[in-house]
Amino acid sequence: MKDEVLLGLQDVCFSYHTGQRALADVNLAIYPGERIAVLGPNGAGKSTLFLLMNGVYRPTRGSIFYKGMEIHRKNESILRRSVGIIFQEADSQIIAPCVREEISFGPMNLKLSPAEVEERVKQAVNVMNLGGFEDRPPHYLSGGEKKRVGIADIIAMEPEIFLFDEPMASLDPFHAKLVEALLVRLNGQGKTLIVSTHDVDFAYRWAERILVFQNGRLTANGTPPEIFSRDALCGSACLECPILLQIERILEKNNLLKEKGRSPRTVKELEQLLGR
Ligand code: ADP
Repeated sequence: MKDEVLLGLQDVCFSYHTGQRALADVNLAIYPGERIAVLGPNGAGKSTLFLLMNGVYRPTRGSIFYKGMEIHRKNESILRRSVGIIFQEADSQIIAPCVREEISFGPMNLKLSPAEVEERVKQAVNVMNLGGFEDRPPHYLSGGEKKRVGIADIIAMEPEIFLFDEPMASLDPFHAKLVEALLVRLNGQGKTLIVSTHDVDFAYRWAERILVFQNGRLTANGTPPEIFSRDALCGSACLECPILLQIERILEKNNLLKEKGRSPRTVKELEQLLGR
């Protein structure tokens, strides 16, 4: 039973120094091992939410809790250690002159032994298919390759919660699949994953829970079938209906489904529902 809140936001508001309000009255509980997709149009507050969740920003009002402990100035390093962000633009994350040094930067900051740092770098390089790139300068890599380095950076730190901001953007289909498989694997290892995305088909097949943000407010929080059955919400948040749900609706209208009300999340599940 997932009952202990891992990360909690209570009445969180955040405004930038320009006075621009980015989040308002956000109440949210994240449980260990969850797979969450965060949807919403540009400017809805998704990136700001991530930066608050890993302690880069502090709420203007309201509180953040990690494992029941309220986060304040003196203990916010807990969030930085426990919550890793993979940024959409890898350039904003990458700082070292070569890939190996780049990936070792985080584990070194965690004051791990040199042997442990080396082991973590080796594993992260393998997981992200970066063998042979170790001595290359990250700034001369392609967008997608840099992205993989950015993901390897965070994997090497082994945080408890991974925040992925548009992880598949700029990746070719092979590496997009690799990242989706990685999300499944990390979750299988008990990690909590929160992914901001515009890919409704991915959110529908992968997430257990979807959070919808609009104008800095959390306007919906539910399972993928619950969220995508709300036509008015999808309209106002500009969310397309996932293709599998569209197909299910057509088949259901034409009485072609063996079982009704069991939304297929994958093509395989759809086949089973068709009785093939
Ligand atoms: P999303 O990630 O959903 O696109 P953001 O969290 O980036 O949304 O932005 C939320 C709001 O905050 C937007 O109105 C955006 O213009 C504003 N904003 C984002 N970053 C800054 C910043 N550094 N300074 C001022 N306003 C910002």
